[in-house]
Amino acid sequence: MSNNVLASGMHVDLHVHTTASDGTDSPREVVYKAEKLNLRAIAITDHDTFYGLDDALKAAGDTGVELVSGIELSTEFQNQEVHILGYLADTRNENLTARLESFRKSRIKRINKIVTKLQALGFPLSMEEVLAQASHRAYNGTGKGTVGRPHVARVLVQKGIVNSVSQAFDRYIGKGKIAFVPRVKYDPLNAVDLIRQAGGVAVLAHPGLANIDDYIPELITGGLQGIEVYHPQHDWQDTRRYLRLASDYDLLATGGSDYHGPDAGGIESLGTITVDYSVVEEIHRLAGK
Ligand code: AMP
Ligand code: ZN
Ligand code: FE
Ligand code: FE
Repeated sequence: MSNNVLASGMHVDLHVHTTASDGTDSPREVVYKAEKLNLRAIAITDHDTFYGLDDALKAAGDTGVELVSGIELSTEFQNQEVHILGYLADTRNENLTARLESFRKSRIKRINKIVTKLQALGFPLSMEEVLAQASHRAYNGTGKGTVGRPHVARVLVQKGIVNSVSQAFDRYIGKGKIAFVPRVKYDPLNAVDLIRQAGGVAVLAHPGLANIDDYIPELITGGLQGIEVYHPQHDWQDTRRYLRLASDYDLLATGGSDYHGPDAGGIESLGTITVDYSVVEEIHRLAGK
C-alpha cells in the first residue's frame, strides 16, 4: 500500500463512488482524476448500481487508466451494516440486475420515510429536492442511479439546517438518530452468492467499521474471496489484523480510498489509499471461478 500517489504508476484504487450513487464526481471525472494521479487502474464501486460504468468505460478509453467494474452491496448482519464489494461481475446477470432493481426501489422508499420524519420535525425539505440532489448529477430521470442518505444530508446542508454532511448523520439520519429509518434487511451471504453467481469476485468491504470478525469464517465458507485490508477508516491495528486474516485464509487483500468526491464529508482525494496492480491481476484470475 502507498499513500504516495504521485509516484504510483503501478498503483490502483479499488473503492470509488460516483454520482451514479452517492459520490459527487461523475464517472468521467473520477477516471480523469485517476489519470492525473497516475493511477494504473480504478474500480468504480457504487452502492447497489452499475449505472456509472458505461460512462467511466468511455472515459477510460481516452486515458491509460484501466477500469475495473465493481459494485458495493449494502447488507446487514446482527443489526450491523456489512458492505460486500463485487468485482468483474456480469452486469447483465438476471438475478443480479433484478436484485439491484429491488434495492433501488427500497432505497427510494427508505429515503421517502426519512424525509417524512424530517418534515415532521419541522424541516422544510421535500423528496423532490432530495431526488434532484441525486438527479442533477446522475439520477437524471433514467431511474438507474441510486439515492442514499448523503443526498438527504446535502439538502440539509444547502438549507443551512446543519453545517456539514457528517453533522446531518450525527444529529438526524445516522443509525439510531431521530430521523433514522432502517434499510430492508439483506444477508451478506446472499450478497456473496449473488456476486459469485454472476462470475464476480466477492470482497468484504472495510471490516474494521463493523464488529463482525467472528462471522468472517462463515462468509469465507459462503464464497468470500477477498477482504478490504486497506481503507481510510482502518487504523494500523485493523490493517495488521486483516492482513493476517487474509494470509491465514488465503484471501485476496484489497484496498481503496472509498472516495465519494471532494464535498462529500469523507476523504477529499481519490487515491489516498492504493494497492499494487497485481491485486487487479488476481481479481481477473479469480473472476468466473
Ligand atoms: P445509505 O446507503 O443511504 O444507508 O447511506 C450510507 C452512506 O452514507 C455511506 O456509504 C457513506 O457514504 C455515507 N455516510 C454514512 N455515515 C456517514 C457519516 N457519519 N458522515 C458522512 N457520510 C456518512
Ligand atoms: Zn456511500
Ligand atoms: Fe461501504
Ligand atoms: Fe464505499
